[in-house]
Amino acid sequence: MRIKRLEIYGFKSFPYRVVLPFPPGISAIVGPNGSGKSNIVDALRWVLGEQSLKRLRVRAAEELLFAGDHGRAPAFAEVRLVLENDGQAPESLRDLPEIVVARRLYRSGESEFLINNRACRLKDIHYLFLDTGVHPRGYGLIDQGEVGKFLEWSPEERRFFLEELAGVSRYRVNREESRRN
Ligand code: ATP
Ligand code: MG
Repeated sequence: MRIKRLEIYGFKSFPYRVVLPFPPGISAIVGPNGSGKSNIVDALRWVLGEQSLKRLRVRAAEELLFAGDHGRAPAFAEVRLVLENDGQAPESLRDLPEIVVARRLYRSGESEFLINNRACRLKDIHYLFLDTGVHPRGYGLIDQGEVGKFLEWSPEERRFFLEELAGVSRYRVNREESRRN
């Protein structure tokens, strides 16, 4: 599944809706210090289901909502990730050319996940990205200084990483699910 576009609204330093296209090939995001480059990566992590506030570089969830002085206070933050479906998606989404994953957080604290405009569970988001490397903790997102961390990981963490890389995570999750049921 290839990322086509990332849309950010009301999230961190983005008071207005911004659309970031990712054409095939390599994309680079450049800009001065503090201009929001890392906030874009945070937006990507967040829409992929990241639950750790620390990893999103905030102390409280409300810090994810735009809090600047543009005379604007959006009622919610929303990040939408538009993916090109190459047939890797789970059965129910296989025929769709595009998959849109969205996450929303309201000022009230309520939040929701959506796949193609349908509310879903965080679990569904995780399942969608299993074996694709596109996971907030997968090999698709590597932080500064993280390369060397592989050596410090526990055997369980390494196994999770390697299973993703080998593309067999979905089988493990399905097996665990059927054992539980
Ligand atoms: P560097 O090159 O230093 O890594 P960067 O481009 O990665 O910089 P970011 O960390 O993405 O910069 O952006 C930091 C900016 O985002 C800060 O100016 C901060 O005030 C702003 N910011 C973070 N959260 C919010 C928020 N909730 N509302 C408004 N602005 C925010
Ligand atoms: Mg940065």
